Amino acid sequence: MEAVHNTPMMKQYFSIKADYPDAFLFYRLGDFYELFFEDAKKVAHELELTLTAKNGKNAEHPIPMCGVPHHAANGYIEQLIERGYKVALCDQVEDPKLTKGLVKREVIQVITPGTLMSALTEKENRYLVAVVEQDGRFGIARGDVSTGESALTSVATLDGVVKELSIILPREIIVTTEEHETALAHLRIPLTRSSRRESHPHGDRAIDAAQAEAFAVLYAYMHDTQKRALTHLQPAVVYEASDFMQLEPNTVKNLELVRSARTGDKKGSLLGLLDVTGTAMGGRMLKRWLEKPLLSERVITERLDAVEELLQHYFERQQLKDTLREVYDLERLVAKVGYGTASARDLVQLKSTLRLIPRIQSALEEMMSERLGQLSLGLDPHDELSDLLDRAFVEAPPISTKEGGMIKAGYSADLDELLVASKDGKTWLATLEASERAATGIKTLKIGYNRVFGYYIEVSRANAKLLPEGRYERKQTLANAERYITPELKEKEALILGAEEKSVTLEYDLFCGVRDEVKGHIESLQRVSRRIAELDVLVALAEIAETHDYVRPITTTGRTVDIQQGRHPVIETVLPRGEYVANGITLNEGREMLLITGPNMSGKSTYMRQFALIALLHQIGSFVPAAQAELPIFDQIFTRIGAADDLVSGQSTFMVEMVETQEALTRATDRSLILLDEIGRGTSTYDGMALAQAIVEHIARHVGAKTLFSTHYHELTVLEESIDRLANVHVRAVEQDGRVVFLHEVRDGKADQSYGIHVARLADLPDSLIERAQVLLSEFEQAEPVPVAAPVKAPVQEEPIDQLSLFSDADPLRETMASLDLINMTPLEALNTLYRLQAEARK
Ligand code: ADP
Ligand code: MG
Repeated sequence: MEAVHNTPMMKQYFSIKADYPDAFLFYRLGDFYELFFEDAKKVAHELELTLTAKNGKNAEHPIPMCGVPHHAANGYIEQLIERGYKVALCDQVEDPKLTKGLVKREVIQVITPGTLMSALTEKENRYLVAVVEQDGRFGIARGDVSTGESALTSVATLDGVVKELSIILPREIIVTTEEHETALAHLRIPLTRSSRRESHPHGDRAIDAAQAEAFAVLYAYMHDTQKRALTHLQPAVVYEASDFMQLEPNTVKNLELVRSARTGDKKGSLLGLLDVTGTAMGGRMLKRWLEKPLLSERVITERLDAVEELLQHYFERQQLKDTLREVYDLERLVAKVGYGTASARDLVQLKSTLRLIPRIQSALEEMMSERLGQLSLGLDPHDELSDLLDRAFVEAPPISTKEGGMIKAGYSADLDELLVASKDGKTWLATLEASERAATGIKTLKIGYNRVFGYYIEVSRANAKLLPEGRYERKQTLANAERYITPELKEKEALILGAEEKSVTLEYDLFCGVRDEVKGHIESLQRVSRRIAELDVLVALAEIAETHDYVRPITTTGRTVDIQQGRHPVIETVLPRGEYVANGITLNEGREMLLITGPNMSGKSTYMRQFALIALLHQIGSFVPAAQAELPIFDQIFTRIGAADDLVSGQSTFMVEMVETQEALTRATDRSLILLDEIGRGTSTYDGMALAQAIVEHIARHVGAKTLFSTHYHELTVLEESIDRLANVHVRAVEQDGRVVFLHEVRDGKADQSYGIHVARLADLPDSLIERAQVLLSEFEQAEPVPVAAPVKAPVQEEPIDQLSLFSDADPLRETMASLDLINMTPLEALNTLYRLQAEARK
């Protein structure tokens, strides 16, 4: 390597870079962070920065270099992180003024997609996840550095890992093996290989080996990247997937729980509708509730009781809403304290939040429900701490902790003295200015200050000659002014500046003292934060129930579903008020599957989703959009959408549809809810119909899950006759003046027509085309009806199989058919026989 690569600085650079091969090394050089070599090339390209060369472009071996000013580095770093890169921040760790030769530098933090602390979305968590395989199980640990929250679970298969991760949607995944890296690559979430482990206390619930390992890997990585004590990590929440209603990624997506399928935004999703929370941590908690609906009747009832009570107490609720809006993001404030980045301003926000607690408690005073009582009782206002914060800090301290201006007068006698000294000094300067003017007769004489010369006396060039000899020492000559000092002035200057410097240092020390005091309360503050978050969510649910006229659902331990006047919570708010047509749904022992027919655009899909959303709202403890609702607790909700109807991904193939269906069929239980929307659409008619029928039969026989099945195959409506548990319903549409009018009303029985051509007319296809289609339709209708295979009987039924026979009982053809020995026939013989049978039939 040539000489320039061998300078002490480059040597230092190489030795540091060697430890961070997978991150861009931001190397601090004066006021800039510089990047070199490949890092420089890539970053210059990504951020459109100018690429230069450290040793001059014309050098024989130029060193590619680019840089960003250190004070503006955050914005650039965020852009790189959002694109999935990592950045190692390498700073000077010695004061350059005090060192001879090369300043010592170290990486002080590695910023990664899962640990980025700036650019946080208020109401969203930023999770980092570690996945580890141990003792035949897969441990999943997740943590949010910005809130200190962490959670642990384990699952049996890699597939289960994918499912869980698709719900958590972490920003970065740590894996320990190449195999896992490959298996998780398709999630398109940045992956990091790291297997260093460092154990950390994880709360008091017993955990399995896989969970312990995953947490150790997660913790080590957080530690390695953040390079500081993470005292704000909350005790890990340990859960089993089966503690909650299991929602698959597909279901979350299809039901648009947290994102609109069309835009990908929160707006237009169920979360977007429900989220009228006042605090950031409430918003984050609501999202977690939606992704993990409850199975415990007790907890559901507790939440419903709370929502009901808040709904009934209108004025108290308004008071709570107003108060919650003033609450700061306590969880992240506390995390900053633990993380060491809290400022005095953060601590003042902490104080004002704590000071709101009595107001919250007084609003809850009258409430009798168990959960609200617990929440209110658990809101410790931390009086001593908030008094301390109040005594220590002024109302609006600066963001910086190193420039003073934070501490209130009266908090520290020493500080007050220093402040008086510097203030007195300044008064003295004003007096001096006046007396110097009088003594010299120069009215424009003034006292000024700059960093280089300190305090000085300034007079204009023209007046300089009026100054008496000997008393003034000239320090600086400007274009039309001269600046002087006197021994007296310098003496006072030392006092003033000394006092200022000392007071700034003292303020910082005092600030640290208070911050450390807060640190001692992190855990109990985090508990307060969780309780406020929960209260906030409950208030939001009550608010929604009132605004949109929801009703309290009744949880049944039986199998009955009885929803009167149900509505789709999101669609009803998009339509003009009153336009949404409410529909009920009744399911019971003898009626657990509905086959829904009706023309395109009549509202089949909406009806199915409406049911699923009502079930889900019930299980997060919310009121539901209906006039009345009785529901069992569902263990899982599956949604399968016919390939041709899957507008969301647009890439779903028929194969995927079938694989997913297979999965739903194996995993669903008789306590599950399955929505099959136009399944079998992605293939030819007979194929699709055959599959659709087989699927319905299979669910009826082997699964027993409550099922809603929409189809445009009217032929399938005959299944009602053979499957006891299945009933036909249809979405009504009527023809008016040769046009179809959608009523969006769901009625028992099957639809009698497919209004496709009318829909085409609605869409303004040319009249001639519509007429031609009508002619063709009547031709088709006169031709042979599409045969429907004899349905396989569900075992619950005792009567003989009700054959939908092509042949009558007495037919000789039937006897011939019955006697055929198919197993021993060649295909050609079979074809010949079939040919003969057909000839016979046509006679
Ligand atoms: P399908 O699945 O039968 O083709 P959709 O469920 O997609 O029909 O509904 C089509 C459109 O009809 C929806 O986007 C909505 O605007 C409207 N719609 C559906 N159900 C209702 C209803 N109950 N009340 C009012 N409008 C509805
Ligand atoms: Mg549809």
